[in-house]
Amino acid sequence: MHILIINAGSSSIKFQLILMPSEKVICSGMVERIGSNNSVLTYKSDKTNIKETKSILTHKNGLQNIVDILLDKTVGAIKNTNQIAAVGHRVVHGGKYFVGTTLITNEVKEKINELAPLAPLHNPHNLEGILIAEELFSEAKQIAIFDTAFHRTIPEIASKYAIPSTFYDKHGLQLYGFHGTSHKYVSEKAISYLNKDDSKIISIHLGNGCSATAIVEGKSIDHSLGFAPANGLIMGSRSGDIDHSIIFYLVNKLGYNLDDVNKLLTKESGMLGLTGYNDLRDIQLEAEKGNIECILALEMNAYRIKKYIGAYTAAMNGLDAIIFTAGIGENSQVLRKLVCSDMDYLDIRLDDKKNKIISNSLREINVNDSKIKILVIPTNEELEIAIQVFEKLS
Ligand code: ADP
Repeated sequence: MHILIINAGSSSIKFQLILMPSEKVICSGMVERIGSNNSVLTYKSDKTNIKETKSILTHKNGLQNIVDILLDKTVGAIKNTNQIAAVGHRVVHGGKYFVGTTLITNEVKEKINELAPLAPLHNPHNLEGILIAEELFSEAKQIAIFDTAFHRTIPEIASKYAIPSTFYDKHGLQLYGFHGTSHKYVSEKAISYLNKDDSKIISIHLGNGCSATAIVEGKSIDHSLGFAPANGLIMGSRSGDIDHSIIFYLVNKLGYNLDDVNKLLTKESGMLGLTGYNDLRDIQLEAEKGNIECILALEMNAYRIKKYIGAYTAAMNGLDAIIFTAGIGENSQVLRKLVCSDMDYLDIRLDDKKNKIISNSLREINVNDSKIKILVIPTNEELEIAIQVFEKLS
């Protein structure tokens, strides 16, 4: 079964064509900078590796470009759009409605649209991708996979905020959680590696966005991002946890308007705000050279993660494994070492040599005799979407 995975963002569309159940990636790529004359189309398969700059002004035009290259006689992967059995769409916000993989109907589209105020930067584009794919792949089943779905198991004790309940009941102000597809994928890998269905796991996704999830018996029971993807860990340019009274101070004393505050906390804070660098590799290089701000920022970042590990170990009343995943989690031995140092009270003990091994597969990096496993597990959100779509249609 050919499953096309589409992740439509504000100015980009990423795609992967995956053959199931063999899990073979036939081709992948993306259209970036949609809306400009310098849009970039990338396309990679066994046969070719293409990067083209061209004018792609709309999402529809972007997806049409993807269809054209998929059908291309020399480098393409399919002969006819009918070969695509299903299109799996990443949708960021499923609100309270969606707990799992969902066949897209008119009602589902209405709900995705209704949830747009909760994810204004994502849901409208995700919906647009669905509408265009319905036209271009009219024979295919259209399926939505929601980032929030994995977290629908979080109980009220963790998902409610301590504000009057009417805001929860009437306005849906609660923790929804994000990165669900990634946390589900890596935690399932960990459970099967540990061979323990009732495992207590903390999954730590460290990319541009960062989050930690407490997972018991494969179910999310708490998570560090909240109502929006803003809370919790220190991210590339987002502050994570912050005393909300700072917002009032910025507005009332420093004359910020709310858009400025939002920009400050989501685009100009986090590691970027602390160091001037967004990419952790640059920060690590600077820290090595003795840049004090960069050294402190790395330590702050690790300290915040440690606190979540402690909190979630308490919440789960135990711990079997922690997982590091995504760009930073999979690659930064420096941050992993900082996070795992002085954690022996919890029996989290890193093996320095194993931590330094570079690999693309699941690996254990704790010392042999520690009860708590420290796992590095490469995430694969596209594959997880394909697996869920395939399961839904099988
Ligand atoms: P996204 O959230 O956009 O999917 P990724 O999961 O690709 O992000 O992670 C991007 C981050 O991974 C970047 O901040 C980059 O600094 C970091 N990263 C990638 N490779 C390395 C590396 N070898 N060492 C440290 N950090 C890395």
